[in-house]
Amino acid sequence: MRDRICIVCGSPLGETPLMTLDHMPASAQDIPEKEELAEEKGMTLRLHQCEACGLVQFDCEPVAYYKDVIRSGGFSTTMVNLRRRQYRHFIDTCHLEGKKLIEAGCGQGEFLSVLSEFPVKAYGIENRDNLVELAKEKGLKVWKQFAKEGQVLAPADGSACGPYDAFLSFNFLEHQPEPVSMLRCMADNLTEDGVGLITVPSLEYILQYDGYYELIRDHLAYYTFETLRYAVETAGFEVLEEEMVNRDTLSVIVRKRKQTGGQTNQEKRAEKVDVSGLIRSQDAIAQEMRELIRELKDHGKTLAVWGASHQGFTLASTTDIGAFAQYIIDSAPFKQGKYAPASHLPIVPPDHYHRNPVDAILIVAPGYTEEIAGTIKEKFGQNTDILALKSNHLERI
Ligand SMILES: [Zn+2]
Repeated sequence: MRDRICIVCGSPLGETPLMTLDHMPASAQDIPEKEELAEEKGMTLRLHQCEACGLVQFDCEPVAYYKDVIRSGGFSTTMVNLRRRQYRHFIDTCHLEGKKLIEAGCGQGEFLSVLSEFPVKAYGIENRDNLVELAKEKGLKVWKQFAKEGQVLAPADGSACGPYDAFLSFNFLEHQPEPVSMLRCMADNLTEDGVGLITVPSLEYILQYDGYYELIRDHLAYYTFETLRYAVETAGFEVLEEEMVNRDTLSVIVRKRKQTGGQTNQEKRAEKVDVSGLIRSQDAIAQEMRELIRELKDHGKTLAVWGASHQGFTLASTTDIGAFAQYIIDSAPFKQGKYAPASHLPIVPPDHYHRNPVDAILIVAPGYTEEIAGTIKEKFGQNTDILALKSNHLERI
């Protein structure tokens, strides 16, 4: 196998990964159909830490759709309020009233619409055609483009929009195999003292609170404030502000560095991250699932999973649950009738339960457990055993 290099600093990643995850879903978004199952299989993911810049990353190829922004998570009031607060602060402190802001990877304009409430000129770029169309239908100034070094960010019709006074990037950088190229593109399209607001999921949060099933191939990089700072500095920015938002997300405000020439990043040895909690969670969850299955089998009981999310897919493909469970229930119509990646469990609508009932349901949907448990009790009656995967262990509800 060829030696992989760090996606930010280019140093070799070395041979020994921090941890190895076998039989992981190859994608969180591409959910296979029946005729694709013969070809579709799980993959081994190796999590490395760059010894030079410290960035934690997978050494695999990115998913095919890494340039697209697919925000499948619930577009909650909490999220809208968070963005509103971030925009207000960003516009106030960086004096952006009346200025031009561009969002790199704007999806269908979920967050750009919120920005339209503010007295700024809002633009967005998105790679996926149907999302660009949806954003345009909302009246947003969005066009198809992907931020890569050398690109001038402007609509194809030739109308000039840039240079921009600020850029926005919400949970997009962690998908990127060339994050520095993306950031340099943003820098090159900004005014001389242009600024940016970037958010990415926090590695520390995953290490502290989550199980290994939060790691997904779609997220190639797992940033900390330090490694994110290193990446933005390499691309020609300096960090003005760092803030932890929503408990699990890093948010930084950056500004283009003045052209002084010859400025390079300080060489420093990164401190090694401790992934022992994630490794323990692999063993502990596998063990708990084996015990659950044994107990159900002893009583002649059956099981289904609720939640066709990446967490549910990973649990099914990496533990004995994939072989034991009957199906995965999910309320999203576009997932129903398809199959979980790697484990190939069928994904069914909630009503399927009435045709093929099970004795127990295991909820794997962080953040939605209580809501789903309520639905199960209401629709399926009180006799269904309800369990949930929370953090790194199994809970009875
Ligand atoms: Zn590196």
